[in-house]
Amino acid sequence: MNKRTKIVCTIGPASWDPSVMRAMIENGMDCARVNGAFADPAEMDKVKELVRAVSQEVSLMLDVKGPEVRLNKFPEPIKLAPGMHLSIGSTPTDPLYPANYPHLYKFVQAGQKILVGDGDVELVVKEVTNGFLHCEVVFGDILKPGKALNLPGCTYTTDVLTEKDKENLRHAIVTGWDFVSPSFIQDKESALQVRAFLKGSDMKIIAKIENQVGIDNIDEILEVVDGIMVARGGLGVELGLGKVPLVQRLLIEKANEAGKPVITATQMLESMITNPSPTRAEANDIATAILSGTDAIMLSGESSAGKYPAEAVAFMSKTAGEIEQSIEPKIITKRALDASISADAITKAAASLCIEMSKDIDKVLVVSKTGRTARLLARHNITQPIFAFVASEVSARTLLLSKGIMKTFVQPPSLEARDSAVMQIVERAKQEGLVAVNERVLLLCKTPIDGEHYFPNVFEIIEVK
Ligand code: PEP
Repeated sequence: MNKRTKIVCTIGPASWDPSVMRAMIENGMDCARVNGAFADPAEMDKVKELVRAVSQEVSLMLDVKGPEVRLNKFPEPIKLAPGMHLSIGSTPTDPLYPANYPHLYKFVQAGQKILVGDGDVELVVKEVTNGFLHCEVVFGDILKPGKALNLPGCTYTTDVLTEKDKENLRHAIVTGWDFVSPSFIQDKESALQVRAFLKGSDMKIIAKIENQVGIDNIDEILEVVDGIMVARGGLGVELGLGKVPLVQRLLIEKANEAGKPVITATQMLESMITNPSPTRAEANDIATAILSGTDAIMLSGESSAGKYPAEAVAFMSKTAGEIEQSIEPKIITKRALDASISADAITKAAASLCIEMSKDIDKVLVVSKTGRTARLLARHNITQPIFAFVASEVSARTLLLSKGIMKTFVQPPSLEARDSAVMQIVERAKQEGLVAVNERVLLLCKTPIDGEHYFPNVFEIIEVK
């Protein structure tokens, strides 16, 4: 699989069959995401087992919902028509109720707009009585079970992590999940609450940016998280669809500048939920995200509940491969976050070398304890494949969310002298089939000045013998 762009797939009933999971991974899935709105530890274990039966490299992402309010999973979709009345209750005995936030009615007033799902249904609250929101349908044809409710302008008290989120997250920590993607991160404090919960765990935080406050505070959010998701479902509902394309571009640019991975999410191949092939507009959507610099693209309903999960992954991979042919590398001048002046400067120099000598450098090998040097190099979008040697399995898997980093390996620290340490990496790269005789590779290792020794400093173009 030669694509540089990474693919995140939401896992659900449509992908629970082992043969479907295998096909999705073989077709290019890099990260399996579980939607924590309804998943519990047992489902998380099931997904992990399904993924690990096929691959040790595919990373696992737990999505936690925090302030997101969701309807219960009522048995059948409800047909709607404008003007129709709907009552949203507050207990499990009510046919419709907000499953993870039953007391929502306490914070809602008559006149409140409610958008459901990605905004395809709009309701208006006519009256609030005794635990019920009595609503009228403004537009929409079908109300589907388990959809998110969005109440623009309504302030209801919620935590970044609910009790259910915490239970799932504790399980994720002890069973070795790689990423948590918290919803509605809107400032540094909300991100730090998640960080505090993770304590000493190696799990990485991918903050879902879903509203205007999150956009306004993106710089401070990026300082404390490991990456972001452009959550276009939430953004479309909160801001209106017309604003989403430019916000997407802005968030991708900010993440690239920060040197942290960004996932572009939601409705990328929506029509493939029911059709075996996508629309031209969807192919364009993938192209726009990649050409803007996204690290990863994501499937939601397409892979969790659609009819063609493996085909959707295959289409994403193929389209990404085509679009990547015309990617222009670009040196990002702004210093990346979390980067020392020297690490930032050396990776810029390495990227410049790869651009200037594009015909003479075939591949890049990066030895990078935490993966940071590799990520700092990848942000410049160089066309050479990057292979990274890192200190831990978590770094190896999580680094694969960054575009252009094609394969990662766990490498023990080297106490050898510089020349033999270099030989060690080149030999390993040969054995792993990454490089061939006569190819020229750039080998890069930037050892932190005051860090624990991992590998000698190297910045060298080597012809493979
Ligand atoms: C989104 O809002 O785009 C999103 C990714 O959220 P969800 O987890 O609800 O799919």
